[in-house]
Amino acid sequence: QVHGLATPGGFISSTGVAGLTLGGGFGYLSRKRGLTVDNLCSVDLVTAAGELVRASADCNPDLFWGLKGGGGNFGVITSFEFDLHALGPDVLAGPVVHAFDDAPHVLREVTSLMRDAPDEVSCLPVLRHAPPAPFIPEAYHGRMILLLALIYAGDPDDAEAALAPLRGIGDPIADAVGIKPYTAFQSMFDASANAGARNYWKGHYFDALSGEAVDALCEHAARMTSKESVIGMLSLGGEIARWPAESAPYPHRNAAWVLNIQARWRDAVEDTRHITWARETFNAVAPFTTGGVYINFISGDEGTARVRAAYGGRIHDRLAALKGEWDPDNVFHLNQNIAPAVSATA
Ligand SMILES: Cc1cc2nc3c(=O)[nH]c(=O)nc-3n(C[C@H](O)[C@H](O)[C@H](O)COP(=O)(O)OP(=O)(O)OC[C@H]3O[C@@H](n4cnc5c(N)ncnc54)[C@H](O)[C@@H]3O)c2cc1C
Repeated sequence: QVHGLATPGGFISSTGVAGLTLGGGFGYLSRKRGLTVDNLCSVDLVTAAGELVRASADCNPDLFWGLKGGGGNFGVITSFEFDLHALGPDVLAGPVVHAFDDAPHVLREVTSLMRDAPDEVSCLPVLRHAPPAPFIPEAYHGRMILLLALIYAGDPDDAEAALAPLRGIGDPIADAVGIKPYTAFQSMFDASANAGARNYWKGHYFDALSGEAVDALCEHAARMTSKESVIGMLSLGGEIARWPAESAPYPHRNAAWVLNIQARWRDAVEDTRHITWARETFNAVAPFTTGGVYINFISGDEGTARVRAAYGGRIHDRLAALKGEWDPDNVFHLNQNIAPAVSATA
């Protein structure tokens, strides 16, 4: 950003670039610029055999394909090279806040508007307790709200008109959208993801965020067990969906939204309560989702079946064959593991 350039990263600025990239990676710039891996030019890695290897479209292209979503299964990455795009450094972006009672209506409007929004517009609706931020009226601090994080990642002359429909929904209690550095916007939620909390996350994808899904989410948001928990939905589509389906081991290109249910709390004695809330919320919306799993939103070790589900059978099989080639002894197994396929000639 010192040079007015950017590539898609996460919506929390401290999210590690390595893990994020190796799982696909998406954020506020993805509708305009695609997944993080769509912007990946090359990777250097140390393989299980202890060799330093380069992977790119021209050099070890199969391995390069596997690294664009296959996680840390193929080696220790020592460098990533990304395409960069002009952005800002100042952009029109910020939060619009609604009273929680209005959330079902506002979310329906958001999903309808995002269907035809330009790629430059990105929206992250978040159901959460209001932080004591100066732009939110004090009467709402600590109460449930719906916050829409909005950004226009394009020509500033078009920004006001492009964000106007989303800002015009209903009767917001706060609108802090304005010209600000992209880095300030991208770090807006950093404080709510600070270190030290206990976390349990679940995720889903939606082809469309239906009214039934919105109602289920709002119902479970109302029962949120911790003031630190959040339910966030990031708009996808745009450039992500234009890449060929299997250009990377990321089989969710047609999803319009990704959901992240984040339970966060401090005291271990409360584990069951908050984990139960996250699971119940996840189960309640499951009927309305694609059934897909983002490999980077799997919490810890949920088993090999869930890893296979994250990729789908065909992509998983191709990754397993690649793993058999580059890490036949499964040296790199402390990850969302893909077991090496044993070749017929082995
Ligand atoms: C607060 C928060 C916000 C997030 N927001 C987003 C988001 O907006 N978009 C999104 O796509 N994801 C998001 N995620 C998910 C994120 O992509 C994963 O948690 C990711 O694993 C983080 O990367 P990391 O480098 O910190 O990984 P780590 O936790 O350090 O490692 C996870 C795995 O990545 C692999 N890995 C890491 N580094 C290397 C390396 N150098 N070489 C080889 N393998 C390696 C290993 O398999 C390792 O087990 C978020 C996560 C958090 C905690």
